[in-house]
Amino acid sequence: MADFRDLRIVVIGAGMGGLGAALAFAKKGFKHIGVYETASNLGFVGAGIQMPPNVVRVLDRLGCWEEIEKEATDVKETSIRQGSTNVELAHVDMPDVREKYGFPHCTGHRASLAGGLYNGCLKESAITFHFATALQRIDSYAPTAKLTFKAREGEMYQVEADIVLAADGIKSVTRTQMLADALGTVSEEEDTGQAAYRIMLKRSEMLDDPELLALVDSDTVVRWIGERRHIIAYPVSDHQIYNLSTAQPDINFASATNATYTTRGSKEVMLGVFREFCPLVHRMLNLVPDGEVCEWKLRVHKELPIWTHGSIALLGDACHPTLPHLSQGAAMAIEDGAVLAECVSRTPLGETDNTAAAVAKALKVYELLRKPHTTALVDMASFSGRTLHLGEGKAKEDRDRAFRENGKSGSVPDKWASPDVQKMIYSNDCVKEATENFDKLFASLV
Ligand SMILES: Cc1cc2nc3c(=O)[nH]c(=O)nc-3n(C[C@H](O)[C@H](O)[C@H](O)COP(=O)(O)OP(=O)(O)OC[C@H]3O[C@@H](n4cnc5c(N)ncnc54)[C@H](O)[C@@H]3O)c2cc1C
Repeated sequence: MADFRDLRIVVIGAGMGGLGAALAFAKKGFKHIGVYETASNLGFVGAGIQMPPNVVRVLDRLGCWEEIEKEATDVKETSIRQGSTNVELAHVDMPDVREKYGFPHCTGHRASLAGGLYNGCLKESAITFHFATALQRIDSYAPTAKLTFKAREGEMYQVEADIVLAADGIKSVTRTQMLADALGTVSEEEDTGQAAYRIMLKRSEMLDDPELLALVDSDTVVRWIGERRHIIAYPVSDHQIYNLSTAQPDINFASATNATYTTRGSKEVMLGVFREFCPLVHRMLNLVPDGEVCEWKLRVHKELPIWTHGSIALLGDACHPTLPHLSQGAAMAIEDGAVLAECVSRTPLGETDNTAAAVAKALKVYELLRKPHTTALVDMASFSGRTLHLGEGKAKEDRDRAFRENGKSGSVPDKWASPDVQKMIYSNDCVKEATENFDKLFASLV
């Protein structure tokens, strides 16, 4: 095959990673892209998401940032506070993120990010969506991939592809089967012992509370921290919604016997979890309607030995699920798709009569490019969570001193807000890195 654009691409999963990958391949000129998704529609949970400059850079290249930005909050500062007292431990100004990194750090509604990517995909005639259709199994990896799908109301059927991009999330069936088939190993998800509430409060419900109103009208991300728990909050949807995302010890899921990752929670229990937190936090939590408390189990995975096998590559949470404390999970998933598209479109197919071997090498280059960076970020998110959740004692005293001295050191213990970490992550241009290193890495593989 002389023209890479003729390769048949199958994307499994229409989450942030799958949508981003489909759009990135379409923008490179690939002509046959099928996206298969278990759910009957996009169905994104009511929750906010942080969109750091490293992913905004990619979204801008994909042509969908302008639409997403319309509703987004351009973050100008972050405030880290003691949860129990609301006393500020550190304040990090971020007025010049756009100037420094070329793109802003924004917060937004998940539906807005997903909608922007999806609308971008709908404009591409190369992309076909197959909703309510789940991958059942992989039948072959090479020279072409053969996959069995089942439509919800239909029979099983087989699809053949030159490249499969598995963006099927933390519970990835592709990962499980691939590790078993390629290495004979078992996929090992890890319990983090943490769970999260996701809460969205309407501005209209805050009108009588000047302190809450000031929060939703601000351009600030606030983190309230306490022992083994914290809350991060920011405005989304053109300042009409205040989004809260929490982390706390997992009690509900730990005692559950099934494999569910989300559950309806009790408001009373949620208020109890943040019992020690200040009245301001309680006024917010009290606004959550009874029966609308939703809790997520936070899971990760041991670092995978491989991300690709034959013509199949994992991306996003399927291969590097992360704790949310660095706000990089979806960003990394979208970056993965952009790097994959860059690598495959650079593959010298014309010079080889073995397309499958060339494709497999290109996918390995993607793994070489992305695995060290994403592994470092996953580890850092986990480390930052441990630091944020310290209880009374010397370590906490040292941490709080470091928070107070943040202006001098250029580094704060909350890695998300730390200027040195932001510099490392925000200046990373994953596509540029792929462009500059592809040929050398491709040639280095036998
Ligand atoms: C509380 C919390 C806060 C977070 N905050 C942020 C943040 O601020 N910024 C950030 O960048 N990230 C954040 N993240 C992380 C981010 O949400 C995830 O990393 C990201 O959504 C992963 O995207 P994905 O496409 O890889 O997987 P998913 O979003 O899980 O998508 C997988 C898709 O595959 C589909 N699927 C699964 N199995 C099959 C199958 N067999 N066949 C077909 N389809 C299938 C699923 O239905 C789903 O649609 C947060 C996460 C949590 C839990």
